[in-house]
Amino acid sequence: MDTDGRKKKIIITIDGPAGAGKTTVSKLLAQRLGFRYIDTGALYRGIAYAASQANIASDDDKALEKLCGKIHLGFEEIAMGLRLVLNQTDITDKIRSPELSMKASAISARPVVRDCLLILQRFLGKQTHAVFEGRDMGTVVFPEADIKFYLDANLSVRATRRFEELSCKSGDVPDPKTVETEMAIRDKNDSSRQIAPLKPAKDAIQIDSTNLNVQQVVQAMFELVQQMCPKGNQEPKIG
Ligand code: C5P
Repeated sequence: MDTDGRKKKIIITIDGPAGAGKTTVSKLLAQRLGFRYIDTGALYRGIAYAASQANIASDDDKALEKLCGKIHLGFEEIAMGLRLVLNQTDITDKIRSPELSMKASAISARPVVRDCLLILQRFLGKQTHAVFEGRDMGTVVFPEADIKFYLDANLSVRATRRFEELSCKSGDVPDPKTVETEMAIRDKNDSSRQIAPLKPAKDAIQIDSTNLNVQQVVQAMFELVQQMCPKGNQEPKIG
């Protein structure tokens, strides 16, 4: 039970570097369990988008703090899936460009941004059983999560997956080498920053998806959730 007497919500965290397959796997696992799916990378991208629109540099902490204090950022579930909404505008289709990936990585190293999203993420974690995907879900945001996964794969496989994903979308697609180089830079930024660096939580179950397909990863996670879901909590809807 929470201190306010409500049943504790089950939280599953899936952390790992870009291109490891977290998004696809997290969505499918959440669907299978009947849990909500929360893409925390999208929240960082949302702030990066708002900062770009307002011409705020990635290291301008004062302006970022002010921005975080006044924007309304959240998810809305509609027929076409989960949408990211910034100040009542759906920005889901505007946050996936390589430029915004780099900007999100840069602003995510700023404590003012992380503090603001920490509050939002923990608030979301109180609402319903959920699968949270990100970089620091198991280490910082939900250290008490019920089950933690860390999903990884080797760099060239991750870069190929991301290149194929970008190629399916319209707009300029960078060449595969650029995708790999940018991914390596982002990995380095994310894992070497001082605050909430990307790393597996000590109690995370590590899965290497280099030689596994999506179904294999989801099945492995699903079976582990079934085995590990703590007794005494409200049981997740499994099956
Ligand atoms: O997961 P995605 O690639 O959309 O995340 C974009 C960026 O947001 C990451 O490169 C990382 O810098 C940042 N991020 C983070 N912590 C999270 C989720 C994302 O720092 N929990």
